[in-house]
Amino acid sequence: MVFTTKGVVLRQRSIGEEDMILTICTADLGQIEVTARRTKSVKSRLSGAIHVACYSEFVLYRGRHDRYYINSATALSAFFGLREDVEKLSLASYFCELMQLVAPVQEGAGDCLRLLLNTLSFLESGKYPNDFLKAVYELRLLSVSGFMPDLVGCASCGEYTREEMYFFPVSGRLLCGDCGGKAEGSLPLSDSVLHAMRHIVFSPFEKLYGFRLSDRSLKSLASVTERFVLAQIDHPCKTLSFYHAIRLPEGEMNHEAT
Ligand SMILES: [Zn+2]
Repeated sequence: MVFTTKGVVLRQRSIGEEDMILTICTADLGQIEVTARRTKSVKSRLSGAIHVACYSEFVLYRGRHDRYYINSATALSAFFGLREDVEKLSLASYFCELMQLVAPVQEGAGDCLRLLLNTLSFLESGKYPNDFLKAVYELRLLSVSGFMPDLVGCASCGEYTREEMYFFPVSGRLLCGDCGGKAEGSLPLSDSVLHAMRHIVFSPFEKLYGFRLSDRSLKSLASVTERFVLAQIDHPCKTLSFYHAIRLPEGEMNHEAT
């Protein structure tokens, strides 16, 4: 059976001399693995459409044992601008790896794909700071793929807000200071960071990016969302380590600026 679908390439693996297996995130089928043949041939018409983070239209053939093979692929958004900035490129790789770790397999993933496409587009255009996009992506992606944290209120007394609120990355729950929130492994949340987290989890997609934070709060939010990701996926994330490795230490950046 031959059919057409659109998706973002999350991963490439070489098989033998010339073939590849791609992991693609599609809206209708979730993430699927597809075999791309003779990708390294000079005559390959796939090469411009199968790199990681490329959004393409694929004509696929469904073979035996539900295996998919690529007949042809056309790039819809290649996001070439990301290749001019190593930090952005490394973040895009991380976004794709994280998607691969959490997105549904062989079932609809429209919300995941939409989030990834918006994030890659904003990352390329520079419309929002990288840390902002990363924090929003991490928390929203986990929320729409089965890892939604319980941010409604303190998990013990139910209070919506208290002077001291703490987040537990492993359980994804909140506890206030009166209910023992200040415990090993918990992260203290300021009002603005908790408000931002609730916005990211609960707001309609159209309003997802409609909030602002001070630099200090953004740094705190970014730290919390990353800790949440690492606790939930419980899996080393190579692209995230690489992203941190290539970023200049802040002191160095300040030094260069003065
Ligand atoms: Zn409480």
